[in-house]
Amino acid sequence: MALRICSAYRTMSTDAVLVIAGLIPVHLAAEKKRELYVKAEINDEVKKQQRQGTYQKWQEEWDTSDNRKLIHNVEDWTSRKHGDVDYYITQFLSGHGVFMDFLHRIKKIPNGNCMYCDEIDDAEHTLFCCPRWENGRSALLSKTSEIWGKVGAFMKEIIIEKVKDEKARNAEVS
Ligand SMILES: [Zn+2]
Repeated sequence: MALRICSAYRTMSTDAVLVIAGLIPVHLAAEKKRELYVKAEINDEVKKQQRQGTYQKWQEEWDTSDNRKLIHNVEDWTSRKHGDVDYYITQFLSGHGVFMDFLHRIKKIPNGNCMYCDEIDDAEHTLFCCPRWENGRSALLSKTSEIWGKVGAFMKEIIIEKVKDEKARNAEVS
């Protein structure tokens, strides 16, 4: 199911597929169910603690995985509100795809060097470093700066408003 959600290559390891697809591993889900079963009362607080515990264990397991490439924080990634993954994005997130280093490791080609430059070609090289994609990368970064500007303006608005509120609160107290 996870393979289908993120259109992953079958060569991907289970832990990586589950993180990318955002599916809690079965052994952790089972543990969560068992813990809830023995609890006398199940309220929102219990559920919240449970969720935190599950994510903590999932993160600990992920931290020891060799597949921890572009996704570092499991909870941030799996609870994001937007951004579906598809066949192409999954290749970058997993490193399993049209990357020479990967194709070399599965013995499809004789070496892992980039087709366009002489570096070792993996997902990070392709996305962040390879000169072949420099134009697209710069275009993307210039768009990011628009968003950055908006985020900065919002931060300014928040700070100005908070300073005002803080002063008002202090005036009330004194
Ligand atoms: Zn390259």
